[in-house]
Amino acid sequence: MRAVAVFPGPRVVKVIEQEAPRITEPDQVMLRMLDIGICGTDKEICSFEYGTPPPGDDHLVIGHESVAEVVGVGSAVERLRAGDLVVSSVRRPCPHPGCLACRSGHQDYCYTGDFSERGIKEAHGYMAEYVVDRERYMNLVPPGLREIAVLAEPLTIAEKALAQIFWMMQNRPPWLDPQARAGEQGRGLSALVLGIGPVGLLGAMTLATAGFSTYVYSRELPPNPRIDLVDAIGATYVSSQATTFPELAERMGNIDLIYEAVGHSHFALRALPVLGTNGIFVLTGVPGLQAFVETDPASTMRNLVLKNQVLLGTVNAGTDAFAAALRDLDAFRQRWPAAVGTLIAGRFPAEQAPELILGRPTGIKSVITFDTSA
Ligand code: BGC
Repeated sequence: MRAVAVFPGPRVVKVIEQEAPRITEPDQVMLRMLDIGICGTDKEICSFEYGTPPPGDDHLVIGHESVAEVVGVGSAVERLRAGDLVVSSVRRPCPHPGCLACRSGHQDYCYTGDFSERGIKEAHGYMAEYVVDRERYMNLVPPGLREIAVLAEPLTIAEKALAQIFWMMQNRPPWLDPQARAGEQGRGLSALVLGIGPVGLLGAMTLATAGFSTYVYSRELPPNPRIDLVDAIGATYVSSQATTFPELAERMGNIDLIYEAVGHSHFALRALPVLGTNGIFVLTGVPGLQAFVETDPASTMRNLVLKNQVLLGTVNAGTDAFAAALRDLDAFRQRWPAAVGTLIAGRFPAEQAPELILGRPTGIKSVITFDTSA
């Protein structure tokens, strides 16, 4: 079968031929991979700045945003059967008995750092025709979401963040309405999304759905299909080429939430001073190597303390976030059918993966497909 792999030694990214995997444990499922999304993390891995092959291997099969069809199940599999559609989570627990996070199924909070991540760190990924995995890491996808389910994994970033934000918002400023309708706890609050890539756009959709008055701030100038999408979901786009951070802050008033989705540390740092009183700054990007900059840590610290601010890093994601992502994808599809239709830029064969990953992004989300019926 075919798979897309990166070889860090000779610094090569290519399609390889390898033997299809087999079910060897009773709790395993065999997956026929349908769609695999390409993201910034894949770009970093294929630029040899990130990612690690499994111990003893000279290559890493990439791909971690996926949707697949179950084509075989082990004897102990209870929830799934052939024909089901699934999205797999990415992180796998570390082996240490003392890691309470991993031992309780919350490996996205792993203490030791010895977790693995499929397609990223010490475990092969999903950009292959067939994959074998354990049932417990599968999230069942309603058949109606087949076309967009590949977006569930990147959407879990926003879902996990939002669950934490709501928890904090409801428990900190005590005047916020604790009875706010479930899923609409953002009413009356403002959110600023940094970045207009897939993570930013999915984040903006999640925040707008939750009732936040949502702004998206990035470099791009119109005309741009990503900016059209921001307009279509009722959020406000502002270009950093036309408006500075202080000007933006003046326009928005108290900024209750900043959701960073650019992976650029300098940009994120420049946004910190405009975070409002009692505001939460969520960091989701994993920056590659970036130049050192001079900064003013005293004013950052002063603001954090005097304005009760929270700086929150978050990495996706657990089972609840996957369930929320699948629910929200359905909500987005019903609310903004045309906009959701533009999220996936195109489906391409595996042979095109290296150029798509390393080239300039076209459209919003490029997807590699092994689905011959698509
Ligand atoms: C993936 C996460 C992963 C993170 C860091 C992201 O692109 O979606 O699952 O934990 O990269 O490796």
